[in-house]
Amino acid sequence: MAKVWVDDSCIGCEACVDAVPDVFQMEDGKAKVVNPEGASLEEIKEAAEACPTESIKVEE
Ligand code: SF4
Repeated sequence: MAKVWVDDSCIGCEACVDAVPDVFQMEDGKAKVVNPEGASLEEIKEAAEACPTESIKVEE
């Protein structure tokens, strides 16, 4: 299973939460991973690529 997390550079734009809400949720103004299996790895990688601050990390 891939490891997915959000680092401290998140600016809280909510793009990842909008794209894959089953994986990412907002907490205290930043995104956090609530369920790394809530979407396909491909969808998570797309969210990571769309993140403006490259805050979403995926380790396969
Ligand atoms: S897309 Fe990136 S900057 Fe925006 S909320 Fe998600 S992790 Fe944070």
